Amino acid sequence: MEASHFDHLKKRRVTAANGLGPDERHGALAKLDLFIERAGLAQNEVALKWADEALNFAATNGKHFEIDVYSPCPCGSGDKMKFCHFHGLRPLIKLLQELSLTTN
Ligand SMILES: [Zn+2]
Repeated sequence: MEASHFDHLKKRRVTAANGLGPDERHGALAKLDLFIERAGLAQNEVALKWADEALNFAATNGKHFEIDVYSPCPCGSGDKMKFCHFHGLRPLIKLLQELSLTTN
């Protein structure tokens, strides 16, 4: 049940990435996109790829989603996340943590 729900989200994401959107978006994926946009990263392919992978990881790895704030920022700047987009990405990280708790 949870897996198929996630597949649905992922499929919608791919559709949008292929330029077939905009289509109406719901649930976690809509929030994911909103938070990415608010962080100023909606046009950043590196960050979008990271968000997709993080969503996949959070939804499927069976553990609570954690993030290392001293890891490289997902925007690709090379700076540590804590000193780059961490503040802007915090709502997204929280969403991923909530998702990891509800789907695992
Ligand atoms: Zn950054």
